[in-house]
Amino acid sequence: MKKPAATRQKEKTEIEQLSQAELVEMVLALQKIIEELQDKLAIATGNSRTTSQTSSKPPSTDLLQKPEKATVKPEADQKKKPGGQPGHQGKTRKGFGRVDRTEISSPDICLNCGSKELSEVINIHRQQVASLVAKPIEVIEYQTQSCKCLECGAVVRGEPPRGIVP
Ligand SMILES: [Zn+2]
Repeated sequence: MKKPAATRQKEKTEIEQLSQAELVEMVLALQKIIEELQDKLAIATGNSRTTSQTSSKPPSTDLLQKPEKATVKPEADQKKKPGGQPGHQGKTRKGFGRVDRTEISSPDICLNCGSKELSEVINIHRQQVASLVAKPIEVIEYQTQSCKCLECGAVVRGEPPRGIVP
């Protein structure tokens, strides 16, 4: 028996209507599922630290039952949906739990008096942005640094990342 083509088409349309933030969440959830499947595969090939949770059954039977429970639920159950509006980039103030790349922007001149004598970094403004890339996902932390002008005391910031709303 084959799956009706209409069902798959509908799913595809639904996916296309998701905002980027939702897509990012979906990819992250899929990555988690993949990792868990890899764990299960490790069990199957006997390379695992994990063992059968139910003592009455041999580990090999675990593979044949309920792969759905452990995988999809944890992410889906989390009530707090960051609620990205359609068209928004995937980003969060709390962070994604990982950063693949950090881009640092620091000021090199005082915009107030033109002096180049700036202090050490006195503040860092962080923005983490997740976007769909070939990797398939990359979290970039943009750090916009602030320094104090040693001449006039003005606080100057590096240039904010382009195309990203603070
Ligand atoms: Zn200055």
